[in-house]
Amino acid sequence: MSCLVISNPRMMDHAPSETHPESPARLAAIEHRLETVPRLVHGMAEPARRSDIELIHPAAYVDAMETLRGEVGYIDGDTLTSPGSIDASWLAAGAAVQATRAVIDGDAQRSIALVRPPGHHAEPDRAMGFCFFSNVAIAAAAARARLGCERVLVVDWDVHHGNGTQRALYEREDILFFSVHQDPLYPGSGAVRERGAGPGLGYTVNAPLPPGMGDGAYRMLFDELLRPVADRFDPDLILVSAGFDAHLHDPLAQMRVSSEGFAGLCQVVNELADEHANGRLSLVLEGGYDLGALSESVAFCAEVLSGSTPPPKATPTPMEERVVSSLLRQHTEHRA
Ligand SMILES: [Zn+2]
Repeated sequence: MSCLVISNPRMMDHAPSETHPESPARLAAIEHRLETVPRLVHGMAEPARRSDIELIHPAAYVDAMETLRGEVGYIDGDTLTSPGSIDASWLAAGAAVQATRAVIDGDAQRSIALVRPPGHHAEPDRAMGFCFFSNVAIAAAAARARLGCERVLVVDWDVHHGNGTQRALYEREDILFFSVHQDPLYPGSGAVRERGAGPGLGYTVNAPLPPGMGDGAYRMLFDELLRPVADRFDPDLILVSAGFDAHLHDPLAQMRVSSEGFAGLCQVVNELADEHANGRLSLVLEGGYDLGALSESVAFCAEVLSGSTPPPKATPTPMEERVVSSLLRQHTEHRA
């Protein structure tokens, strides 16, 4: 099975400060670790088309971001630009679209867009939380508008809630947004009752989990909540907002997922892609701030996407089972 990895070293030119956790070293560590994974095909990311970005972001917002091109700028305490940041953000959105196009056109069976800055906190008219353009929402919208897809499933397993993706897609019934995240944690949104609005009601699915949840809890949630959601929706494309900051070694959150655990989650979406979407699956990097944990987790996912045997299925501890069961009940009550 072929897996395409799309990136561009110019995304490392986004370097807002020496101490920022979303550092250029993240991409370097991943690229280095992926040298040990066989059967990957590498491709060079190009900047997004403005018309693709404007499927999600208003023209006035894109213009405002352009004024920061080449500049050192301050958006909020977490979100800063260096001279290479706006170039990098166009490449990040472009890589997400390219990776998506590759699996739709059949150039690759699976793909990974290794991008920064990440995207899932960027709202249509507001950069925040290290994010400038909503990379995955842009790719999903482009798949709908230009690439012939009917129904796109976005799975966000970054430990933070993907508020930007949710806001961009909240009233759409053609792109289903599923997020599992730690609660409480930045940015504070992502409650079960946030289920979409208008025609999109029921097409946003949030799974907030308390700190301390590990492989078994996540796997149970994917098997018992994501699977039935995907079966009902029947997507013809699956995109993953693949953040790795739910890792037990991550410094920004308190979850306990292992690198093997992420490979297990990747296997679930891999199977769902085979069952529903003719295998069309693309992972787009979001967060993940421990370099060793991040690079190992991406490598394990890349192995799953290239057809290696996945790790054994994780089972929940009794405590994890109680937590996830309670969450499943909340979902049943909100659907009623
Ligand atoms: Zn995150």
